[in-house]
Amino acid sequence: MDFLRYAERAADLVNVPLEDEDDLRSHLADRPWLADRITSSDVRALRRLQRDLRPVFLADPAPDAGGDGPGAAATEAIVERLNTLLARHPVSPFISGHGEAGLHLHVAERESSVAETLAAEGLMGMAIVVCDLGPDRFGSCQAAKCANVFVDTSPNRSRRYCSDRCSSRANVAAFRARRKAAAPA
Ligand SMILES: [Zn+2]
Ligand SMILES: [Zn+2]
Repeated sequence: MDFLRYAERAADLVNVPLEDEDDLRSHLADRPWLADRITSSDVRALRRLQRDLRPVFLADPAPDAGGDGPGAAATEAIVERLNTLLARHPVSPFISGHGEAGLHLHVAERESSVAETLAAEGLMGMAIVVCDLGPDRFGSCQAAKCANVFVDTSPNRSRRYCSDRCSSRANVAAFRARRKAAAPA
């Protein structure tokens, strides 16, 4: 498995509307073996997970005054929250050789519910991002009226938008604002 991909899936999960089982089914459209097993309690559990994960993406690990690494307070908050959630959603790793992927690790037992599987994957992915890439890799979209979160895998940690769509929307808005400012009153 690809832990970065799991972290990105966790961000996707935080971003999707989850009103009912259909919403969850369309979120899992590319993973039919999970989509086929969805129950209403998965939807409830994952709504809670969305609320639990969002603050990790919103914590701003800007450097402390005078420092250059991620700020200590935000780092501590991110680590503490992820550790609490890892304890709440225990990970049960096992080796699998299905499909063409060769032997690889899964993080939730076959009998685990869909919600437990997604929680274990997302939390392991995010924990590994924190340890391997740093706690300043989580972010939220800077476009007006967008609340989406993301994992920043850009080389210089400069990602500001959740999508190309938001990025170009923000560019157009900035262009209009400049043109309006330059126009004679
Ligand atoms: Zn697999
Ligand atoms: Zn956005």
